[in-house]
Amino acid sequence: MTLKLGCIADDYTGASDLANTLTRQGLRTVQTIGVPSDDLALPEVDAVVVSLKSRSIEAGLAVQRSRAAEAWLRGRGADHVLFKICSTFDSTDAGNIGPVMDALRADCGDSIVLVTPAFPETGRTVYMGNLFVGSVPLNESPLKDHPLNPMHDSNLVRVLTRQSRNRIALVALADVARGPDAVRARLADLAAQGFGAAIADAVFDRDLETIGQVALDHRLSVGASGIGLGVARALVASGRVKANTDSTTAEAPIGGPAACLAGSCSQATLQQIASAEAVMAVLHLDPDQVVAGKEEARRALSWARDRLKQGPVLIASSSTPDQVAALQARHGRDAAGHAIEQAMADIAEGLVQAGVRRLVVAGGETSGAVVDRLRIPGFLVGAEIAAGVPVLRAVGTSGGDMLLALKSGNFGGAEFFSDALALMR
Ligand code: ADP
Repeated sequence: MTLKLGCIADDYTGASDLANTLTRQGLRTVQTIGVPSDDLALPEVDAVVVSLKSRSIEAGLAVQRSRAAEAWLRGRGADHVLFKICSTFDSTDAGNIGPVMDALRADCGDSIVLVTPAFPETGRTVYMGNLFVGSVPLNESPLKDHPLNPMHDSNLVRVLTRQSRNRIALVALADVARGPDAVRARLADLAAQGFGAAIADAVFDRDLETIGQVALDHRLSVGASGIGLGVARALVASGRVKANTDSTTAEAPIGGPAACLAGSCSQATLQQIASAEAVMAVLHLDPDQVVAGKEEARRALSWARDRLKQGPVLIASSSTPDQVAALQARHGRDAAGHAIEQAMADIAEGLVQAGVRRLVVAGGETSGAVVDRLRIPGFLVGAEIAAGVPVLRAVGTSGGDMLLALKSGNFGGAEFFSDALALMR
């Protein structure tokens, strides 16, 4: 199997977002957790998104991990590699976008790299090199107060210049609007002048399509899910990828017992749990008991084992904001959160040992703890259950096939748990 597109994402949720975007454009896509082992068995896919956690680590380490991911992707035949960053360009003057881009560019020998974080469907647009978040420039958006990487400059040509050893230029909207050949001509001109990368303006999806077409002339591009969309459409339009209209491989039925875990305390999740009470057995954990020791997880598992044959079960730690605040006051926020996440991971492990092969998890951190514990190397991305929440089929696991849905707190409608299980048969 030869990959048509390789992607390196600098955080997990960004990787999922990109993998979901590529799937929606018809690319059969696997998202891996970290750089996969050399012998990872992959199904037939067009794209692999390697998820790293390299956004806020030391730049040298981010470079090292990104290069390892690149080597793996190129080894699987990827001609084009997209370095996926946040659509709000989250970074500091020390990196990590510039240093990683420089290293990947040096590795692949491209003369100039197209860079754009634009993703119009989520309100991220770039004009004259300035990134807008909705109707305001980046430096007036909530990102100006981000705890790790406050963004004080909306001009990405300046931002990237401070991070990169390369000279950075602009491909302005006027050129992008004139189409791929105008962008190619501009890039050739810039490369001849010694520029190593260019921020590309993009306001509409059609701009991303133009940028995507030109990006495929190169071996590397940098951007958010928007450029992923552009590159994916270009791969399909050029016939290099045959758009996959049915996601039956990802969702082929697995059967057997199904279970749901909820560790999110968001408003949406609380409502989803209340709706699930009408259609499945629900156990509410006692959060104080969870923090006190392992017994509560054991109790939950034996409760579940007795019921799994009759139908799906839901185990929830979720409580209302008042109850969460009270528990945190008693035990400390981090200690309480960590203890509950680990209990959810214990329960997930026990459920899988009890035969569960269909697992729905509500909560971003909770999902991370569960996936780590189950040691799942990657997922084939399937149809969306709700916006941004696809069915996932585990790949490369030793314990056989498994379907998952991983939902961060606020996603999904009131019937999310039964909606998910209806697609995970
Ligand atoms: P979301 O996606 O809604 O943010 P997460 O799983 O990322 O959900 O975060 C929820 C956090 O709250 C986790 O650390 C989880 O362990 C913790 N948690 C779950 N239930 C409770 C509870 N009853 N009281 C306090 N914290 C809880």
